[in-house]
Amino acid sequence: MPPPLAGLVGSLGLALCVAIIGLTPGADLTTAALAGIALAQWAMRCEATKTARALAGLTLAALLPGFLSYVTPETLVTTRQWLAGAQALTPSASLSSWRPPLLATLTLMLLALILLLRQRAYLGAPVLLIGAALLLVAQLLAALLPAPTIPLLLVSHIDGFALLALAALVLAQLLLARSWWQGQTRLNRSLLPAGALMLVTLALWQYQHRHSETTLYDATQNDGARLAARLSDDIQGHLEAMRRFAHSWQLLNTPPTDEQWRSQAARLHDGDFRYLLNIAFVRPDSLIAYVYPRNQLNRDVLGQRLYEVQTQSTHALEQALAGKRQTSTDIIELLQGGPGIIYYLPVYNAAERPVGAAAMAISLPLLADTLFDALDPDTALLSWHANGRILARFGNTRRQGPWAHHYRLDLSGQMLDVVQRPRRDYLLAKLSRLPAISLTIGLMLAYLLYMVLYTFKRLDEQNLAFRNSNALLKTEIEERRRLQHEIEWLARHDELTGIANRRYFLELVEAQRNTRPLSLVLCDIDYFKRVNDQLGHLVGDHYLEAIAGIGQAVMAEHDGFFARYGGEEFIGCIPGAGQTRARHVAETLRQRVYQRALRHADGNSVSLSAGLVTHTTGPLDLPRLMQAADEALYRAKQQGRNRIENADIAGVSDV
Ligand code: GH3
Ligand code: MG
Ligand code: MG
Repeated sequence: MPPPLAGLVGSLGLALCVAIIGLTPGADLTTAALAGIALAQWAMRCEATKTARALAGLTLAALLPGFLSYVTPETLVTTRQWLAGAQALTPSASLSSWRPPLLATLTLMLLALILLLRQRAYLGAPVLLIGAALLLVAQLLAALLPAPTIPLLLVSHIDGFALLALAALVLAQLLLARSWWQGQTRLNRSLLPAGALMLVTLALWQYQHRHSETTLYDATQNDGARLAARLSDDIQGHLEAMRRFAHSWQLLNTPPTDEQWRSQAARLHDGDFRYLLNIAFVRPDSLIAYVYPRNQLNRDVLGQRLYEVQTQSTHALEQALAGKRQTSTDIIELLQGGPGIIYYLPVYNAAERPVGAAAMAISLPLLADTLFDALDPDTALLSWHANGRILARFGNTRRQGPWAHHYRLDLSGQMLDVVQRPRRDYLLAKLSRLPAISLTIGLMLAYLLYMVLYTFKRLDEQNLAFRNSNALLKTEIEERRRLQHEIEWLARHDELTGIANRRYFLELVEAQRNTRPLSLVLCDIDYFKRVNDQLGHLVGDHYLEAIAGIGQAVMAEHDGFFARYGGEEFIGCIPGAGQTRARHVAETLRQRVYQRALRHADGNSVSLSAGLVTHTTGPLDLPRLMQAADEALYRAKQQGRNRIENADIAGVSDV
């Protein structure tokens, strides 16, 4: 059963998701993915594993395109293509509505993967959880710490309730994991280096991410500044040309004729700029005498007296007509319509007396057009201000970026403010994918590092366990072998005396089946019952052992073998011994037993009697031989004991 606290925190996460969905009308993919993970965790707690994995799989699949858009180079799939793809599904989709911020995407994907792996440590679930926790901390820090000086284009974290919900989901998973993976030292040892690698990766990403945004910010700012500077230079150059133009009339003694004005002005105007509305010749009484080009708009102003029709320019015109210097109006409403600036330059005759003024009218809307002409309307929104008034705007107003670059345009004394707002889609297309790629690679490397360490440690442990069980098995085999040996020995030997038993004896005799002659000595201890009765069984046992030892030694000396036949009866076999040698051996045995001085209670030595049988020719008939030996033994007993009797058997002869 999962710990109750995990259930509580998980439920809080789920409740937050439901609240967000309820409160935000156009809930985006971030909320949907949060809800997906919360439900999957819920199902996992209820042990509905299949449902949990299905939900986690769906969430992962939904997050995948967004994640890919963060790491796929613009050259492979453009930002516009990603956007078009999203809009094919939801027409109102924007880049940010169908992909959560990068760190949130990764956190959610890791949570989904943990559920898909069913939290198994050997599949790497713990390291994924550590990754999710670190990514969450990075997002919390980003949300809590003061915002950077340049507003970020790619916001790395989600905000408000969504961030709280994410924190609850990670915490619930951590609480669940704590009880499942507790006490696994192998886990800790693998997690520590992998976690450290993730931390370094995140720090590196943070640096790269800021750096690439600052670089892009500077680049767009420089682009705009270059444009403004170029325009200022153009206007400056134009005024310079205008000055030379005005000066050229000095050579004439009379004011220029219409024809002369037109041909000279055409050279100046036509090769030049669209923003130059006209070049006019103004007489000292402010009458517009000539104007070039003579289009409909300009034709209407011909013959008008500027002092009467355009009072705003009076001061500047007076100064110029007085021959003092080049002057210019403020931004005024031009006679042709629209805001503009008029530059006046005195025109002198040969005697250096002013005979009028050349007027150059610059239309600000046309100037704005010239400036904006070089721009793609999708790259930026440009606006054009003067004295706090917006004079012109250019570009797509939708999905503006977070940056605004301000420039001042010096129109030879008149200052114009230009504000450039690069568009978000344009900036996203330009933004380097490297930070996101290296973050992903770093996280993957940390995962691999964990897997290698964990697997290595697991194999190590398995190896140790295997070695231990192997050693255990070896001792067990050894023990069994010993027991087997003991059983085999017991099956063939007499436990009390340690010499061969009747079964083994018969086997040994069987092996000598073809040996001729073959002698058997059947022995019985005399009055042994008395030993038991008078001295006790223990003494009896001791005597049996002693006599067995003597019999074994005597038989071995003659390449024979000795066995306990049963009770206090023993039997010896001397292969290759004829009756005489066998009798000698049996005698030796009898004497040694007697001389050993194993005493009866009355002090007499314990003796034995024996029946001797020797087989010389013909097939071996062991029962018959035994019968004969037994009969001989019986006779020995009858004849007074402590003696050997030969069997009386056909086919036996002394060889
Ligand atoms: P005899 O000279 O006629 O052989 O007399 P005996 O007393 O030896 O008579 P018998 O052979 O019938 O007696 C065998 C005795 O050996 C009976 C039994 O108590 C004793 N005996 C048999 N096996 C063991 C044993 O393993 N330990 C001891 N202590 N006594 C045994
Ligand atoms: Mg007996
Ligand atoms: Mg006996």
